Amino acid sequence: MKILVVNCGSSSLKYQVFEMTTKEVLAKGLVERIGLTGSSLSHRREGRDKTEISGDVPNHTAAVRIMIDALLHPEYGVVRSLDEIDAVGHRVVHGGPRAVQSMLVTDEVKEIIHECFSFAPLHNPANLAGINACEQLMPATPQVAVFDTSFHQTMPPEAYIYGIPYELYENYGIRRYGFHGTSHKFITLRAAAFLGCEPADLKLISCHLGNGSSLAAVRHGQCVDTSMGLTPLEGLVMGTRSGNMDPSIVSYIIEKANIPEAQVNDYLNKKSGVLGISGVSSDFRDLEEAAAGGNKRAQLALDIFAYNVKKFIGAYAAAMDGVDAIAFTAGLGENSAAMRGQICAGLEFLGARLDKARNGAVRSREALISSDDSTCKILVVPTNEELMIAMDTHEIISA
Ligand code: AMP
Repeated sequence: MKILVVNCGSSSLKYQVFEMTTKEVLAKGLVERIGLTGSSLSHRREGRDKTEISGDVPNHTAAVRIMIDALLHPEYGVVRSLDEIDAVGHRVVHGGPRAVQSMLVTDEVKEIIHECFSFAPLHNPANLAGINACEQLMPATPQVAVFDTSFHQTMPPEAYIYGIPYELYENYGIRRYGFHGTSHKFITLRAAAFLGCEPADLKLISCHLGNGSSLAAVRHGQCVDTSMGLTPLEGLVMGTRSGNMDPSIVSYIIEKANIPEAQVNDYLNKKSGVLGISGVSSDFRDLEEAAAGGNKRAQLALDIFAYNVKKFIGAYAAAMDGVDAIAFTAGLGENSAAMRGQICAGLEFLGARLDKARNGAVRSREALISSDDSTCKILVVPTNEELMIAMDTHEIISA
């Protein structure tokens, strides 16, 4: 069975084709600059060189068309007919309160995605455009929507209701939704498999640390709390996002720092985080290099980030009345032994003891990095959101 996974952004479309019997990627590609000049497709069939195709890609329908042409191409394609693709799984950023799981696309599901445009104004319209384009060009193929938010729908109200008038929740749906759910779900499944148990046996803290970062407290396979909120701005200090701060800072900076109200959102999403603190970069590799060279603000940004993550780990251990495992994933979590070391320093009181040598030896592979006497296991688990989308899609169309 072959599943096509599509992730549409406002000006890009990423795709992968999976063979589900082996979970192997047969081909992947990226259409860039949709609706702009200089659009191109970069496509790679597994085991072959990349093929670069430039052309006019004015909208998402044209992007899906050029992807389909590549997939059907006699030389670098992977199917002879679209009938060989059993389903398409679409990444959808926001599903709101009604999307409690991945769903076969129907008019009602499209309505759910549309209802959430205001929560994810850059992503949801593009996600829906991708679904509509695939429906139009692959009318016989089932489409499945996999939401970044749905894994977090098991949170209890005390974790998702904000301390603001309840009518704002009732009338506008203002509550914590959480993001990176596809990644946290994948990490939950893999961490349990790695430890030789079921997700139901674990109290797990999943730490997705990349450009965007979030933690999830997963008790017995169900998310009970997560650090991102109504939008992906809340929670940890991130690459360019502020994360948690006193909400009155917003009105204060409009008044005192003369930042126009219309730009505040941009300021907090794109100019803050470790970039804003360091003045160096949002990229953690640059920060580690600058800090090693003596840049104090780069070091401060790293210290703040590590302190933030550690504080959330403590909070989530308390939220779950204990923790059996902590898993690190995404670009930073998978690759930076130094950051993992800094975060875990002092967590011995939770029974979490990092093994220095094991930690130092692990990059981007599944591994145990805690010592043998650590009662709370510490793991590195590479995430694979595309595979998780393919697995959910497979499950839904097989049901
Ligand atoms: P992601 O958003 O998951 O792609 O993660 C991107 C972030 O991971 C960037 O800030 C990178 O600097 C960081 N990253 C990737 N590899 C490393 C590494 N070897 N050491 C430190 N940070 C890394």
